[in-house]
Amino acid sequence: MAIPKEGKSKNGKAMHYSVGALIEEDGKYLLIDRVKPPFGFAGVAGHIDEGEEAEEALVREVKEESGLKVKGFKLLFEEEANFNTCRRGIEVHYWYLFKCIVKGRVKQNIEETKSIDWYTIEEIKKLELEPVWKYYFEKMGII
Ligand SMILES: [Zn+2]
Repeated sequence: MAIPKEGKSKNGKAMHYSVGALIEEDGKYLLIDRVKPPFGFAGVAGHIDEGEEAEEALVREVKEESGLKVKGFKLLFEEEANFNTCRRGIEVHYWYLFKCIVKGRVKQNIEETKSIDWYTIEEIKKLELEPVWKYYFEKMGII
């Protein structure tokens, strides 16, 4: 389904659509330290552009933020979440969270990220995670 630019949440608030990419290799997860709000360590993620499919946004965001190519993916969750107000001032986001298999070499996007690296679960527990990613890591039982 192609996504509209802005939707309405269950309680009638303006809502954006977002994708998140859970990328894990050998027990380590790929996280970025975000330059732009909402701040914190997070998986690769971003808004779905108007008219774009969630899967297209996933492939585009992974490429933009990490330089990696998505080889395969599986949808883990789709749901409304209101943990973050994004830089466009919208509080509610409808998230599509995918588990991804990637190929290529990590390349930092210096406009979007202070850093990008692989972290063990023990390391992730000590990081200042962006709220929605803290929620997803907890929900999945990873931390
Ligand atoms: Zn937004």
